[in-house]
Amino acid sequence: MAASAPLTAKDFKSDVHIDWCPGCGDFAIVTAMQMAMAELGIPQHKYAVVSGVGCSAKTPHYLKAYGAHTIHGRLMPYAIGVKLSNPDLTVIGVGGDGDGLGIGAGHFVNAGRRNVDLTYLFFNNGVYGLTKGQASPTLKLGAKPKSLPSPNINEGINPIWLAVASGYTWVARTYSFDVKHMKEMIVRGIRHNGLAFIDILQPCPTYNDLNTKDWYSAKDVKDTNSGVAGSRLYRLESPAYDAVVHKPEEKEAKMLQAIQRGAEWGDRIPIGVFYENTYVPTFEERIAGRNESYRAHPPGRQRLADDEGRSMLKFEDFVQGLKL
Ligand code: SF4
Repeated sequence: MAASAPLTAKDFKSDVHIDWCPGCGDFAIVTAMQMAMAELGIPQHKYAVVSGVGCSAKTPHYLKAYGAHTIHGRLMPYAIGVKLSNPDLTVIGVGGDGDGLGIGAGHFVNAGRRNVDLTYLFFNNGVYGLTKGQASPTLKLGAKPKSLPSPNINEGINPIWLAVASGYTWVARTYSFDVKHMKEMIVRGIRHNGLAFIDILQPCPTYNDLNTKDWYSAKDVKDTNSGVAGSRLYRLESPAYDAVVHKPEEKEAKMLQAIQRGAEWGDRIPIGVFYENTYVPTFEERIAGRNESYRAHPPGRQRLADDEGRSMLKFEDFVQGLKL
């Protein structure tokens, strides 16, 4: 049998027309996802991409893979359900900062306690783009993008802090106009055996005129000697930063280190991996420890209907099973 050709990014492009605003950072995120999905060599039918509601929530439509566009703030419980139902799937959650840390904040935190093996891509632009640019939970106190009539009256949540504190075992940040770095972070996040979180700084040129592509490129802060604009973003690996928990006793020190670096914002913003801990068992491993048949017979691979489409569920047996 002839070996099949390696997958390419094009193999993950759907035929659906992309309708984000011109210049939106979301386009590059989809490109980086397609590149990462191909590089991992996992076929299309083994991916499930789950979104909530918002501009970013359109992402599953633009990918050739299984996907679900769910309801506001619920992408994490849905994605967790998909993964636990069929652990053979590679599950990716995609959602915005409003979806994840507004209505979805409780799910965001409680997902960290479970450490299900999936990857959460967090499109972070500081506004609710789909509904005309209201302040999202990551917008800083006092910030006034053009979509607001007066400065933001609430303090912003730091998603890196919250992910680390909630128990996510792989926490990183990237930038949507650095496709290569973004692709690398997505590949590494998916390869991590546990819950990976990637904060993606994503300019929204339509409503947020503060955190723009030019602002991240530091066009306003030129080097005093050369006069050349640099970048506000720097790689955590350089200068050397070791995100990895090498032994369980290091956990707290590495969490504190990640929180300290995660506080940096303004003229210097770190991107890269903040925290990596492989000592926490995944939720799938915890279930398999209680139910020996879980790995071989997860719920998603059980037959629900016979060859004629009739339900195979015996309701009486099911009810009997619930009796104490
Ligand atoms: Fe992108 Fe903002 Fe337009 Fe939404 S409103 S598609 S985030 S530019």
